[in-house]
Amino acid sequence: MLDPAAFVSTPAPGRDCGTCTLCCKVYDVPALEKPAGSWCRHCQPGRGCGIHETRPAHCRSFHCMWMTEAWLGPEWKPERSKLVLSVDPATRFLLVQVDPGAPGAWRREPFYGQLKSWAAAGLQQGRQVVVFLNKSATVVLPDRDVPLGVMGPNDRIVARERPTPQGLTLDIEKVAA
Ligand code: SF4
Ligand code: SF4
Repeated sequence: MLDPAAFVSTPAPGRDCGTCTLCCKVYDVPALEKPAGSWCRHCQPGRGCGIHETRPAHCRSFHCMWMTEAWLGPEWKPERSKLVLSVDPATRFLLVQVDPGAPGAWRREPFYGQLKSWAAAGLQQGRQVVVFLNKSATVVLPDRDVPLGVMGPNDRIVARERPTPQGLTLDIEKVAA
């Protein structure tokens, strides 16, 4: 399990969660045995955390990308987009956690087109764009999406370049670590 300290981040000036509480639904919170995709029992949707002063370390250290990156427009605010963006501190993959109440949200525009652009931009650095619906992952590539199914705690995403007559393509697979 990743150290909560790895998630520590600082909100961009002027950014505030306001009425958004979506990260309290989409992620699992091991300290509370809360599974991904269901509201935390301490969450007061639209208002905030009912145990703010004593919330677990993961909650305390986490800010989504909309909070830390001022260049993401208002349409990307999670309560509006239904998408919570973060960067995996270990792999640097861009992770998109979808509200299970709106499972197709990531395929709507302008989001889908932007995810494709980020996938293309990250190709050279091996930085994947991975969409999660609860624990089920789909890797977004510039030319296609690759569903991988449920990711277990020890599963990893491996990408291999393969030459084709049309140029290099990526093969994506899920492997157990
Ligand atoms: S998803 Fe982002 S904006 Fe929404 S409550 Fe969590 S940190 Fe705040
Ligand atoms: S403890 Fe508070 S901050 Fe953490 S998931 Fe629950 S409601 Fe959200």
